[in-house]
Amino acid sequence: MFIRVVVYVLAQALIGLLGWLWLGWPGAAVGLALGSIAVLVADALRGRRFVQWLREPDLNAPPALRGLWGEAAYRVTRALRGERERTRESAQRLEDFLAAIQASPNGVILLDPQGRIEWCNDIASRHFGIDPRRDVLQHIGNLVREPAFAAYLAGRHEGEAVTLLGRGHTPAHPVRLSVRLHPYGAGHRLMLSQDVTALAQADAMRRDFVANVSHELRTPLTVLAGFVETLQSLPLTEAERASYLALMAAQSARMQALINDLLTLSRLEGSPPPGGGEPVDLRALMAQCEAEARGLSNLLHPPEGRPQQLRFAEPPGFALAGAASELRSAISNLVNNAVRYTPAGGRIEVAWERLPDGRARLAVTDTGPGISPEHLPRLGERFYRVDRSRARESGGTGLGLAIAKHVAQRHGGELQVSSTLGKGSCFTLVLPEQRVRAAGEQPPAAVA
Ligand code: ADP
Repeated sequence: MFIRVVVYVLAQALIGLLGWLWLGWPGAAVGLALGSIAVLVADALRGRRFVQWLREPDLNAPPALRGLWGEAAYRVTRALRGERERTRESAQRLEDFLAAIQASPNGVILLDPQGRIEWCNDIASRHFGIDPRRDVLQHIGNLVREPAFAAYLAGRHEGEAVTLLGRGHTPAHPVRLSVRLHPYGAGHRLMLSQDVTALAQADAMRRDFVANVSHELRTPLTVLAGFVETLQSLPLTEAERASYLALMAAQSARMQALINDLLTLSRLEGSPPPGGGEPVDLRALMAQCEAEARGLSNLLHPPEGRPQQLRFAEPPGFALAGAASELRSAISNLVNNAVRYTPAGGRIEVAWERLPDGRARLAVTDTGPGISPEHLPRLGERFYRVDRSRARESGGTGLGLAIAKHVAQRHGGELQVSSTLGKGSCFTLVLPEQRVRAAGEQPPAAVA
């Protein structure tokens, strides 16, 4: 400012002096006036350049002005740069925040005070079939039309959740959502949705399981109680007593088998998968299963009638890394099922083999009644039976295949079933190559 005044005064003095030298005092006055006008015009031109730049400021090319205008241009440029940086930072923060909500495993919808959608993440758009662009500012009640939701939206809902059917729900493929509304800001609401289909299914399975176990136990218990009452109240002959006691023993054996299978299942579910310790000697294990199956077969189809033909192939030339008791339980369930469901004179074959890809496979093939295709996907569910009365008659607990499937999965393998109605079935236990050991091989040394 000071320099500007000094320059102005010196310029005026010089022009006044020139005017005085040329035309005397009138010349000096004209010179001073012209000098002032020139300074004002130059100033106005610089101001105009500044204002023109200010209309659409390009912060990379501020006007090259000196003096006061230069200072003003510099300060405005700096202020605008700061403002733009702050705007960019806020936009980035908003973007990060929305990206974080996008990453949420739950659906998130922001509703304005009128209940209109302001924003929603991809999960919410999938849950409710909302188009995040098209449906912005649509009332949520127009898009989620279940009466339960309308009532929930209209009422007070702090902390409470409502369960709704999600987009694409069908009885065969249910989709259940738990939805909560949380108020925030000035009348806004945050709507959270969570897919609880698996939880609801698990809950239904648990209820079914408890109902099934109770039912399975109640039947033999009722029979037992009936016999006890008969024994207590009626005068029976020795032969009658013996026959009733034999029937009671069969019922209690049935209950015992059920409890044993339940305990086996719960052990399988509650313990870590078996490691690859001491290899299981399949020779001994298959010999045990064979003896058990032959005993059962002789009991069900005595040799004097039409006995079953049981063929156990030579023991395999490999061992398996896994839990011996689990493998024995799975194999004996498959073999005993084949014996129980195959009629007299039928054939049962049991054989291990190595598949070309290195996996080990046990096939239990029978010439029993077979299973029609619609039942195959459900085999292995607890208490799932193709023919209820026949299964119970043959002394089954309804858990044998569930145990076999569980054991296979815990060893990294799978249980497969192929069957033709009226011809027979083949149950196979396939175990991964990593579990196969040469017979007699020592386990790999533990890594220190
Ligand atoms: P269960 O104790 O009733 O035999 P499982 O879990 O072992 O229970 O078997 C489930 C159902 O699968 C059986 O009830 C039966 O209907 C069917 N099933 C199992 N093995 C065979 C087989 N080898 N042949 C025909 N049906 C079978």
